Amino acid sequence: MLDPQKIRADFPALHQLVHGKPLVYLDNAATAQKPQIVIDTLSHFYERDNSNVHRGLHALSMRATDAYESARSRVAKFINAADPAEIIFTRGTTESINLVAASWGSANLKPGDVILLTEMEHHSNLVPWQLIAKRTGATLRYLPVIGADAEGGLDLTRLDSLLTPEVKLFAFTHVSNSLGVVNPAAELCAKARARGIITVVDGAQSIGHMPVDVRALDCDFYAFSGHKMAGVTGIGVLYGRRAMLDAMPPWQGGGGMISNVDFFESRWKPAPERFEAGTPNFADAVALGAACDYLDVLGREAIAQHDGALACLAFEKLSELPGIRLLGPRGARSGLVSFAFAEVHAHDIVTFADEDGVALRGGHHCNQPLMRKLGLTGTTRASFYVYNTAEEIDVLVASLRRTLKFFGAA
Ligand code: PLP
Repeated sequence: MLDPQKIRADFPALHQLVHGKPLVYLDNAATAQKPQIVIDTLSHFYERDNSNVHRGLHALSMRATDAYESARSRVAKFINAADPAEIIFTRGTTESINLVAASWGSANLKPGDVILLTEMEHHSNLVPWQLIAKRTGATLRYLPVIGADAEGGLDLTRLDSLLTPEVKLFAFTHVSNSLGVVNPAAELCAKARARGIITVVDGAQSIGHMPVDVRALDCDFYAFSGHKMAGVTGIGVLYGRRAMLDAMPPWQGGGGMISNVDFFESRWKPAPERFEAGTPNFADAVALGAACDYLDVLGREAIAQHDGALACLAFEKLSELPGIRLLGPRGARSGLVSFAFAEVHAHDIVTFADEDGVALRGGHHCNQPLMRKLGLTGTTRASFYVYNTAEEIDVLVASLRRTLKFFGAA
């Protein structure tokens, strides 16, 4: 069991007043706060080791290169990848998915091919596929969600009939950022693999909240962002199966990714360098390694239990509020809850909550097609992490009651 009161001491940003009230930070699905050790690792790197990686032969460059490559190995271990070369550092989930779409998609998709997505995808796992579909003549197809409030998650009964021979790639989210549902990723990957279909898993909302083992999932690609797992912004990862990566063309050209350049032709290095053109974000990668250490000391099973239990408690307490519509499953869920009130706009709720020191997020959460399907313009989302407490849920509920009363909705 996690002890959030003890954990809070590790996170300097939590210890502040907002509008005179203690901060209750419930916007973790957008970005998580950073523990002191991650901040210190980043400062320490800039204070001592900063130098460009790979091309230098002096002490600082060698130290920086070692630190960068150690971070790659650390991330590989964090997700149980077979080989550090399967870890490509990117800016985040969005860039990781764009990399697969641009590189794998441009080399493999043609008219008549189908990309299968789900109706709960974040725009990051939707728009890159629209772009590459337009360029290659492939088309998109969607696995639907079930229920007026999508409380049933994905309609898995439809999956077999949608996985037809035209489907070349299946991209889906491990955890929905607005429903809180955890998809059975291993089962989805197994069904795709049995038909020779490539899988891309969006791990943005899962990576910092539960154990992730890419070999157990048996996915081809897994994409995630450092800033949602206690790492810093501007760094993320694309995991790709080695054989897949080595068969893919570069998506960006520049220094570091070539083995030889001539005036008219160039040859590429293997992965991961092939996909890391230019100076990589080595400092933030080193800090990401520290975030992996931090989360593993807490234990990712324990984190999953803690975040899931808080979300279930919040779901129960929120369901007592008049006129509330809660999205996603009632039972087991990841660490977030999304809700809407017919009479009060999500932006008003978030603005009122802010006056009470509570940080929430309101809007479509980059899930516009799903929101439209559910007949909503947006929702309010409370999302939890290792430092959140049951008492903070009481502060949230009290704040919502105050808002509802102000708008005459309670
Ligand atoms: N996918 C999901 C499910 C997300 O929740 C997010 C961010 O909220 C993203 C992708 C995009 O992540 P990033 O903006 O860090 O690239």
